[in-house]
Amino acid sequence: MDRTYLIKPELDEDYPVIDYGKGVYLFDISGKRYLDASSGAVTANIGHGVEEINEAMMDQAKKVSFVYRSQFTSVAAEKLAEKIALSTPGDLNWSFFVNSGSEATETAMKIAIQHWQEKGRPLKTKILSRWVSYHGITIGALSMSGHPGRRSRFVPLLADFPVVSPPYCYRCPFNKEPKSCGYECAKELDVAFRRIGPESIAGFIAEPIVGAAGGAITPPKDYYRIIKEICEKHDILFIADEVMTGFGRTGTMLACEHWGIVPDLVSLGKGMGAGYAPIAATLVTERVMEPIKKGSKVIMSGHTLSANPQSSAVALAVLEYLEKNNVIEDVEAKGTYLKNSLKKLKTLFPFIGDIRGKGLLIGIEFVGNPKTKQSFPRELNVTERVVKMAKDVGLLLYPATAGEDGKSGDAIIISPPLTITKREIEELVRLFTSALTKVQEELE
Ligand code: PLP
Repeated sequence: MDRTYLIKPELDEDYPVIDYGKGVYLFDISGKRYLDASSGAVTANIGHGVEEINEAMMDQAKKVSFVYRSQFTSVAAEKLAEKIALSTPGDLNWSFFVNSGSEATETAMKIAIQHWQEKGRPLKTKILSRWVSYHGITIGALSMSGHPGRRSRFVPLLADFPVVSPPYCYRCPFNKEPKSCGYECAKELDVAFRRIGPESIAGFIAEPIVGAAGGAITPPKDYYRIIKEICEKHDILFIADEVMTGFGRTGTMLACEHWGIVPDLVSLGKGMGAGYAPIAATLVTERVMEPIKKGSKVIMSGHTLSANPQSSAVALAVLEYLEKNNVIEDVEAKGTYLKNSLKKLKTLFPFIGDIRGKGLLIGIEFVGNPKTKQSFPRELNVTERVVKMAKDVGLLLYPATAGEDGKSGDAIIISPPLTITKREIEELVRLFTSALTKVQEELE
């Protein structure tokens, strides 16, 4: 190809051209094999080239691929919504289908606002969020995102949503130790609500485990119980952004289940279509739907391709595949095995500062000095070096940001397809060791 007409993430980068994928592996047109240890962008949850999903897609395509949601419903979309209601905790019984995670969080924001309008409280419109977070790239979703790097170009357009600190125990914003911290980071939300005024706040949004903005930052045991109690005390809805963590990634259908809470709204995406089709969802509890059902009966949102039969059939097939093969049940054991193997690398590579996460969503933060937790100077591009070196040896990793400001530190996410085998986990660790050896040599 003499020139490209496609706008790719880095304009000057030479991207390999993909040929095909099978299981946890991807092959480019030169025949090079990559172990997909990131599931793309934490998306290909059941691996590549799964026949059943392609067949479900074809079966639906032979009937009809698209109908407009204001004109028809479809068996695929109805069945998918029912199956999600039955597989998720509590009364998260309603699904609104969209096409991307950003649309899902933005729809959650709008439904939360509408809920209060229909209850006669139209002043409750603000959605608060945490720093070191990412909820999507559209202007509403970016407004909620505490990701300085992704916000900076658009700050004048953004409503100012992030207010509270992340539950980032490795770099506690309050300089406390997890055992004796008293959950100050959670309690900060109570102060923020009181300062801003609960009468103006519709909801609080958070990723159960912070993804790319922090490298799988995982809050301690009681964090979400306290957050949920604070939200309930002030009549504020809790929105869990499970775009990255949902659909089994952490060993439960929703990551919130680890903390024993049921959010008022949930956003799903990524693993829902597992990369086979663009589909995402906003889940809504009965309590949140109630005033809308009694009131206007219309949710003022939606996209042309929302709930299209083609994507719905794919997500339904993914959910059936997860169930039939007990995929989610096995995630915890696989994740523990992978995490323990990675922890053993800490002695070989002292620049591994922290290893965190749940199930098969594992974050690794790199530091210049493991004792002081001092980050590397950003100009050293440690994250970029690790990701590039890994790609060179045939291993795909997901870059993340880290550090108190969400941009000065280095982290990666390891999140292979949930279907990865023990032998493939061992290969992943071998390839990762080889990449880190080369990065260590470069840094010396
Ligand atoms: N929310 C979270 C937690 C995410 O990780 C992402 C994407 O990385 C999004 C929302 C946005 O999803 P999408 O890129 O599909 O719009």
